Amino acid sequence: MNVDRLKENVAEVHGRINDAAKRAGRDQSEITLVAVSKYVDTEATRAILEAGCKVLGESRPQQLWQKAADLAELNPTWHLIGHLQRNKVEKSLPCSQLIHSVDSKRLLNAINKSAAALEMTANVLLEINVSGDESKHGWHPTELPAALESCLALEHVQCHGLMTMAALGGGQQVARRNFAQLKSIFDETKPAAGSQFFQISMGMSGDYEIAIEEGATLVRVGSALWAGVVA
Ligand SMILES: *Cc1c(COP(=O)(O)O)cnc(C)c1O
Repeated sequence: MNVDRLKENVAEVHGRINDAAKRAGRDQSEITLVAVSKYVDTEATRAILEAGCKVLGESRPQQLWQKAADLAELNPTWHLIGHLQRNKVEKSLPCSQLIHSVDSKRLLNAINKSAAALEMTANVLLEINVSGDESKHGWHPTELPAALESCLALEHVQCHGLMTMAALGGGQQVARRNFAQLKSIFDETKPAAGSQFFQISMGMSGDYEIAIEEGATLVRVGSALWAGVVA
């Protein structure tokens, strides 16, 4: 593992985040880098924590459980960014500070039930399918008001905002259109959703700067951080 390269990549991504924020007239403190560690093992994940990335994203629940246990003494903040099945909710909640990928009412209900049993509040984002890709999870934008209403009725779930993925292979212009749409849906929804509703999770290695220009508060970056670091 090339730790120097990892530190360079981290600095580069932070620099690009700050430049994009500046271009958009935003304060860089509004944007959090979620370093996606799903491509690498526990030791490389430890290295990126030590390089200063304290918010980590994993897409597979089992991998999240394992790394959360192995790296507990470093006290990272874990975000679950991938699809969550209901039978994995109970084990995921104690180690997920935010779940980005809540995409059905049944999942919301399962999260509420487990959170109640664990005597905790689960923090979630609602995943919205703005691109219309059939292969993608997430609510259709027209389903959002009902999804939010379900969420607000649950005592042990706090909805912090929205998440989306740009269309696969759509290029930068399509990504920008997808992100602008999520921001506009967010703005329409915000008055009904309360003060805790402020997160917009969008943008990955290929398009996080565009996402920031369009209003992202959480960018989920993986491959740009690991390039040249691990074999
Ligand atoms: C893997 C993944 C990312 C990171 O993608 P990169 O292109 O490697 O930056 C972001 N979000 C989700 C949901 C992912 O599964």
